[in-house]
Amino acid sequence: MTPTANLLRFDKDALVEWLGAAGHKAFRARQVMHWLHQRGVADFEAMTDLAKPLRGWLREHACVQALPVVTEQRSRDGTVKWLFDVGAGNAVESVFIPETSRNTLCVSSQAGCAMACSFCSTGAQGFNRNLDTAEILAQLWWAEFTMRAELGLADGERAISNVVMMGMGEPLQNYAALVPALRVMLDDDAYGLSRRRVTVSTSGVVPMIDRLAADCPVALAVSLHAPNDALRDQLVPLNRKYPLAELLAACERYLAHAPRDFITFEYCMLDGVNDTAEHARELIALMQGRFPWKCNLIPFNPFPGSGLRRSSAQRVAAFAATLTEAGIVATVRKTRGDDIDAACGQLAGEVLDRTSRRGARVVAIAASDAVSAANQG
Ligand code: SAH
Ligand code: SF4
Repeated sequence: MTPTANLLRFDKDALVEWLGAAGHKAFRARQVMHWLHQRGVADFEAMTDLAKPLRGWLREHACVQALPVVTEQRSRDGTVKWLFDVGAGNAVESVFIPETSRNTLCVSSQAGCAMACSFCSTGAQGFNRNLDTAEILAQLWWAEFTMRAELGLADGERAISNVVMMGMGEPLQNYAALVPALRVMLDDDAYGLSRRRVTVSTSGVVPMIDRLAADCPVALAVSLHAPNDALRDQLVPLNRKYPLAELLAACERYLAHAPRDFITFEYCMLDGVNDTAEHARELIALMQGRFPWKCNLIPFNPFPGSGLRRSSAQRVAAFAATLTEAGIVATVRKTRGDDIDAACGQLAGEVLDRTSRRGARVVAIAASDAVSAANQG
């Protein structure tokens, strides 16, 4: 007997195949995806255009399993942060960030992260495990239909216009689960987001940047954080494997496939570490004559034990001004949801050891504002 499948794990091709193996026609996959991802319906009986026998078959063989919500926090500025239980004491976060022209959801790809960047509290936790496709999509599914109801949107109106893979984890280290999830985000039979409105942020997994270009080219943001290898080796240890020359070459190759004609570089501003005028000039020189890029400066979100400090607002402004004078578009990431710890540049910040209602030990990571320049333009 086929084991019960969580329908959130399928992209359309996989759903066609899975239903097809049981003799169901391909168009049924589209119908199921409409109910699930466009209308948020999880009850097979309510899927009224499905033939009765198919509904019965789904009841037996399929389920729609969302992630249990551990906490939901709401900021005065409209930012909403969910902490989802992914089992065995692990939890991941998603953050909904409303703005005038778009609503962005920041999504996690892994519980923890193996990349160990020195300024990141997810990295400080170490790697727990990859999320599967269903767990990645469950974050979007939950946020979309929770916010749609809350905002009083009509059927067909979308709550979330942009997705950024900037939550916990390195998405390109979880490639096999990531790509089907991206395909569902893009699929007109599901969320129907344009490629420009879905952003993958990476610390620089070079071979996977090339694979993403071939398989599913969405907007790309690269976590640069340093203008030379010596400093980047310290801040982003992955740089020792894929140094700047290789990373920048991969970015240039990616541009040939990208939905946007520039690459966004994220640059976390660390007091006295990478934020001087000299660093700004070095960054400009590094990129001279290469390819179009934009710089998203993220004020560091401090967390206990990091030993790092946030650059002053003046330093950030001066750094941005130096880039701007050189003709580079530089934006400073706004902090959002300060009052709910969703304000940091990423899932850094405060690490909370807490006991969930089920008694499991849950390590919660304060979440991100995740509003990236990658989303703009
Ligand atoms: N792993 C991917 C995506 C998640 S991190 C990556 O590294 O790109 C999303 C962004 O937040 C990255 O640019 C990351 O470097 C940044 N970030 C991590 N910790 C931060 C902190 N404490 N303060 C500010 N930005 C941080
Ligand atoms: Fe992982 Fe990104 Fe944090 Fe680095 S910044 S440890 S890659 S989540």
